[in-house]
Amino acid sequence: MSFSNDRSVRSARVLDAVPTQLLIGGAWADPASGATFPVSNPATGEELARVADATPDDGRRALDAAVDAQAGFAATAPRDRYDMLMRAYDLLHERIDDLALLMTLEMGKPLAESRGEIAYAAEFFRHFASEALRIDGGYQTAPAGGARFLVTKQPVGPCLLITPWNFPMAMGTRKIGPAIAAGCTSVIKPAPQTPLSMLALGQILLDAGVPAGVVNIVTCTDANGVMEPLIRSGKARKLSFTGSTAVGKILLAQCADTVMRTSMELGGNAPFIVFDDAELDEAVTGAMAAKMRNMGEACTAANRIYAQQGVADEFARRLSTAMSALQVGPGVEDGTQVGPLIDDAGRGKVVDLVADATARGARVLTGGAAPDGPGFFYPPTVLVDVPTDARMAREEIFGPVASVIPFATEDEVVAAANDTPYGLVSYVFTNDLRRALRVAERLESGMVGLNQGVVSNPAAPFGGIKESGLGREGGNVGIDEFLEVKYIGISV
Ligand code: NAP
Repeated sequence: MSFSNDRSVRSARVLDAVPTQLLIGGAWADPASGATFPVSNPATGEELARVADATPDDGRRALDAAVDAQAGFAATAPRDRYDMLMRAYDLLHERIDDLALLMTLEMGKPLAESRGEIAYAAEFFRHFASEALRIDGGYQTAPAGGARFLVTKQPVGPCLLITPWNFPMAMGTRKIGPAIAAGCTSVIKPAPQTPLSMLALGQILLDAGVPAGVVNIVTCTDANGVMEPLIRSGKARKLSFTGSTAVGKILLAQCADTVMRTSMELGGNAPFIVFDDAELDEAVTGAMAAKMRNMGEACTAANRIYAQQGVADEFARRLSTAMSALQVGPGVEDGTQVGPLIDDAGRGKVVDLVADATARGARVLTGGAAPDGPGFFYPPTVLVDVPTDARMAREEIFGPVASVIPFATEDEVVAAANDTPYGLVSYVFTNDLRRALRVAERLESGMVGLNQGVVSNPAAPFGGIKESGLGREGGNVGIDEFLEVKYIGISV
């Protein structure tokens, strides 16, 4: 059997094993309508599987299951929730080869990146397993005496969790981990482009002993039709959303009617700043990580690369050399470093943004033209002299395109970096410690990478300010998003 045949056999086996129904109340079930929708491979356009297309009624059944399971789950011992999460952590590692292949097939990223995402996703379970054991409270004498304050934390209640396609597993575990740790049940709606990884995760949670109804999964093509009634039902107590700012605003408005608690991980427009005194090779390595992780389809992707005038040309030249050396191809093939973009619309936006920038005077150093099909490939691209009024300086590129913009002074670049409604992450490369801290404090973003191009870490508080979001995921504050603080006043 040839190697590629071997791969097709493995792919078929992995696809055959993944559940394709809805997970409601601990059982896999068909939607009321029996309808399904296709999931396709962005590297080939071929259909991989068909999964259940939930109706609003299915959504209601899933939320009812979560509501029914809530009281019992809230009463479980923290150590039991720790054990469930650690079993799920172990299973993710045991099944990492199959899960990575599944993710690459439906999402496109190279196998090594899929393995990296599954390890990262598992780490949220290990991190929050420990957090389940550390939910604390307080006991205090009132300042005037005569009373005591008892402060305790309780699970917020049934949660709605909505995730995007770009990190199909990690964006799920980043919410499910703290929800389970806190004692919350949930209904999860993954993105329709990449539901298979979430469905495989559902099976892992069942195998790990998570009780029936604690985690319910609803796949669908009518996101608003299925989720809006759940948001407005008054039965769910929390919405945690990761996705675009535009959709986040719609959901916030829907949540306002019932004053539902929200966590919002939204879009970004990250500035990546290289000062004259930076270690240039380190800055190039950092830019490659910040730009090319996930083919540029990351909320943390370096969207505007500002290089100071003394190094701008040399930085762009070295970046261009590194970008043009990357191997583009189907993520399942050995040696591939850059897979396809998620779909035709995603690639179309990148094509439009590059056309807009070049029409306004930007120059292409490498890449810049989409190849013919099949698949939604786009080559690693470097543009220089990108004017500040170019669309790609204001909108998320979400593709493998580095836009390099020269700058003169620190004040100028800080003003430019902050001139956006987004505020997720910024990157700064400099060898001057005073400048590093000064600029990091002045940048309007929830996270700053200082001389490093990746900030994501389950043990760190991830999140944005301004229109990039509300709340934090990960770190020792991530579990608070799923807990309510209760104060009991005591007369003694
Ligand atoms: P999206 O279009 O906002 O969709 C995200 C999720 O929301 C999908 O499951 C989508 O399902 C669902 N959705 C859309 N409209 C909805 C509605 N009215 N009611 C309920 N659910 C709805 O974003 P995306 O294209 O999948 O993901 C890319 C975006 O996510 C980028 O902006 C990126 O920056 C952001 N992101 C942010 C973070 C972070 O941590 N800050 C991390 C990853 C990604 P349908 O597709 O079926 O509509």
